[in-house]
Amino acid sequence: MSARMRYTPRRLVEMMRAGMEREVLASGAQWYCATCYSCAVRCPRGINVTNVMGALKRMTLQRSGDRAAAFYRTFGWVTRTFGRLQEVALMGLYMVRTNPFAAFGYAPFGVKLFLRGRLNVLDVFPKRSAREVATLWRKAKELEGAS
Ligand code: SF4
Repeated sequence: MSARMRYTPRRLVEMMRAGMEREVLASGAQWYCATCYSCAVRCPRGINVTNVMGALKRMTLQRSGDRAAAFYRTFGWVTRTFGRLQEVALMGLYMVRTNPFAAFGYAPFGVKLFLRGRLNVLDVFPKRSAREVATLWRKAKELEGAS
């Protein structure tokens, strides 16, 4: 994924060491980390870069105003609430949180999807899996707190 990143993981670590926290978080490179653990396995210094990228994601989430963070938060809320990804809720809530006027720009695309049967606007009831998914989220949060 480094080809998509503004700075490579190696550069990000160097920048963090140089105290460039703001530039690192603003780069958005952390969101391209696919958590594949290739870097963690290969690092000759034994640095778990995957965990570093995870920490950068969490740090970004703690900041308000970041669109990727807003998307992550919204995605989490939707999957916890519905037990699955509910596209209409995801995009609606995401736009309310970031830029409500953007909905006008996406409306024609939404109509197209709806007409092709790709957007089920009536499927708004939580699934039975919602409780299990919420349990998974709670457990992940516990583990995050323990690390
Ligand atoms: S885990 Fe490491 S190698 Fe894999 S995408 Fe993330 S930074 Fe790149």
